[in-house]
Amino acid sequence: MPRRKITIAVDGYSSCGKSTIARALASRLSYNYVDTGAMYRAVTLYALNNGLINGRTLDEEGLIDELDAIHIEFHFNPETKVSEILLNGENVENDIRQMDVNDWVSQVSKVAAVRKKMVKMQQELGKGKGIAMDGRDIGTTVFPDAELKIFMTADPDVRALRRLAELESKQIPAHFEQVKENLLQRDHEDMNRSESPLRKAADAITIDNTHLSPDEQLKMVEQLALNLIEGRK
Ligand code: C5P
Repeated sequence: MPRRKITIAVDGYSSCGKSTIARALASRLSYNYVDTGAMYRAVTLYALNNGLINGRTLDEEGLIDELDAIHIEFHFNPETKVSEILLNGENVENDIRQMDVNDWVSQVSKVAAVRKKMVKMQQELGKGKGIAMDGRDIGTTVFPDAELKIFMTADPDVRALRRLAELESKQIPAHFEQVKENLLQRDHEDMNRSESPLRKAADAITIDNTHLSPDEQLKMVEQLALNLIEGRK
């Protein structure tokens, strides 16, 4: 008998390892994985590359006018085993992790029309279930009926160190203080925006992974998912 497929929503603060855990869980269950942060980052990269961000201002109206010209897709790379993001046909998987994108992404993701377009695409990607999606509003807005909702948190210093290591592994220069300030600033903006702010869904399970290894977290969430899939809960 085919196994029941569920929807897994992983939300939480910046740099808590949401993608690591959602990707690993998707791979264990042979589910699709979608990194929704990458989608907001790709829109931000488009704005930066097309003169919609000048100095300290984002041209919101200009961005809204150009939304139809922004095409985002994911392509699975069999070598890296990662679903990489394409912006208007160009692979931007590395470019979207740069610090200037980090600095602007929370401003861009506040724009209601941007969120509307991204949420629609995310709902389309997950409509057949069998998906693990990570972001800020997956359990609250994108899939409020997801069977499994995880809300991740961790100590800010630990998060900054992890993000710094990730940037270093991609040869992107950064400093601890700058990385920590950026992630706290993004959390603040993400929690305080009017459109789909970062919130823990009432039925989400919180995981504080300050002292947990990726393997320990994976075991926990995999068990939660299997209980649901196999109807034990
Ligand atoms: O997950 P990641 O750190 O790559 O997300 C980058 C930014 O994209 C977040 O700080 C947030 O502003 C925005 N985002 C969002 N909603 C999502 C995913 C990301 O607003 N579902």
